[in-house]
Amino acid sequence: MRAPESSTPMSRHKRTPTEDLAAYHASIAIDLETGCWLWTGAITKGPHGNGGYGVCQADGKSTLCHRFGLELKLGRDLTDLEYSLHTCDNRACQNPDHLWAGSAQDNSDDMVARGRARNNSASKRPLMLTEVKAMAALRAKGNSWYSIARAFGRYQQTCKRNVLHFLVATAKKPAPTVIALEVASLVADAGRLRDALAA
Ligand SMILES: [Zn+2]
Repeated sequence: MRAPESSTPMSRHKRTPTEDLAAYHASIAIDLETGCWLWTGAITKGPHGNGGYGVCQADGKSTLCHRFGLELKLGRDLTDLEYSLHTCDNRACQNPDHLWAGSAQDNSDDMVARGRARNNSASKRPLMLTEVKAMAALRAKGNSWYSIARAFGRYQQTCKRNVLHFLVATAKKPAPTVIALEVASLVADAGRLRDALAA
């Protein structure tokens, strides 16, 4: 049972399940083109191929998001023998329709199949804008390029290049200076004067 709410602001507040759920959904960006729900919060660094999975807080503990999301879908906890597997190639994906409960054997079959698909680079579609935005958000939160690359099943260089291009393309243009505005106004005046003389 939860301790009664304390009025002191310094007390540690354990989130309610509703707050856990709200925080979980607040870190998801839906990619309308692929249907993937991309995690934009913390992701695992994990060596040996375990990096790139979203991490969220549930019941006061750090939890792997794709397990949390599948448990929400199933309405029950996964057992220790069950794996949350993706039908898409995005570890970052939280779409319940892209998650299914499999065995250890399913998990290893899946990894072999995905490894083969990844080696066939011709099958790689270009990154979607929502994916690049999610990568930029992950990077802004301090996640490593390694983890981000794992999350999206891409090379680190591909992630870096796309995020860099996105940031450059969306960088705020400096506001026109007073001088530039004056020059523009003088040029317009000169144009009107020339038109008037020519008439
Ligand atoms: Zn997906």
